[in-house]
Amino acid sequence: MLYLSPPEDLSSLLVGEPSYRAKQLERWLYRTPVLDTSEMTNLSTALRERLQPNLWPFRVVLTETADDGATRKLLFKTPRETSIESVIMGYPRRTTLCLSSQAGCAMGCTFCATGQFGFERQLEPGEIIAQVAYASAILRKEPLPDSPSRITNVVFMGMGEPLANYRRVREALRRMIDIMKIPARAITVSTVGIVPGIRKLADEPWPVNLAISLHATTDELRSSIVPINERYPLHDLIAEARNYFERKGRRVTIEWALISGENDQEEEAVRLAVIAQRMRAHINVIPLNPTPLTAQSAPSAATIQKFMSTLQRQGANATLRNIRGASINAACGQLRLHAEGDSGRLRTGTATVTAIPRKGKA
Ligand code: SAH
Ligand code: SF4
Repeated sequence: MLYLSPPEDLSSLLVGEPSYRAKQLERWLYRTPVLDTSEMTNLSTALRERLQPNLWPFRVVLTETADDGATRKLLFKTPRETSIESVIMGYPRRTTLCLSSQAGCAMGCTFCATGQFGFERQLEPGEIIAQVAYASAILRKEPLPDSPSRITNVVFMGMGEPLANYRRVREALRRMIDIMKIPARAITVSTVGIVPGIRKLADEPWPVNLAISLHATTDELRSSIVPINERYPLHDLIAEARNYFERKGRRVTIEWALISGENDQEEEAVRLAVIAQRMRAHINVIPLNPTPLTAQSAPSAATIQKFMSTLQRQGANATLRNIRGASINAACGQLRLHAEGDSGRLRTGTATVTAIPRKGKA
């Protein structure tokens, strides 16, 4: 499998070929990725045919667009039927890929469809990087309207917790930055708050952006929504995020999924503004995209507005964001839920229940 081998080992897959072939192939895989080896025009036909079955470590089982074509989701399956999802989002001056770092997730955040599925397995560096390559290859053929026809930005906000798969995510970052030449400043790693992972990332040479999924300002509330908070409480998380800012000189982002009756009160907004100030962070408020398994919902428009004005009054730097692709369930972990429909088995805690398709959606 071409993407599953480190780029430095490509020559071992090209036995009998001249030594410059490895560099040629590396360009086709990482610099100008193509959907099919028949497009690798400087390789012999025989070699192209030999390489084709080993090009992608997955097959595409679903592509769907939303937001007038500006959002395109991709669902891949590996040979052993692991689902991997990515979402391409087009904006006027950038095209962002939201990719997955794990199949499923062990963190069990109550509001998240991926968490409700539980953990399946770690994704390999090649499976992470192939999401970027595939998205780049498809964009060159079918760009999103009014957006760059290549991936300009990458966010680790699909399935999984990237810092719970540190070693492989690190290798994927290395290939993205050093070989694909995606600037580290255009890459964002989003974490639920794995404190030792944030420290390790701060020690890496790359100025990648860090997003912290905070969602609550007290340990009691946060532990009830984001269970890993029991292990890495707020005090430690805030200190580590602040350290990241100081080491990298990059403003950290706080992600806040606004959930009706849980974290939408004025007192939460006031405390959030204080934490953001301590972390020197920008706040992204995203009204919850509800999942079928819990009764949690987004607050009313009036409550959302009040939350935002409280943040502003407190001097916080905050933006209200819409979830892209909500109508096609392209938000975190929801793509697979949709594709597998009501035959998908979801896990919450120790109980197993059957997914209920959302009414009026899909
Ligand atoms: N595990 C990492 C990255 C993947 S989740 C993390 O938690 O940060 C990416 C983002 O989607 C996180 O900020 C997460 O809190 C948010 N998210 C997950 N489910 C959501 C939902 N149903 N509605 C709104 N945001 C959600
Ligand atoms: Fe995992 Fe992130 Fe979902 Fe939490 S929000 S369950 S950490 S993917």
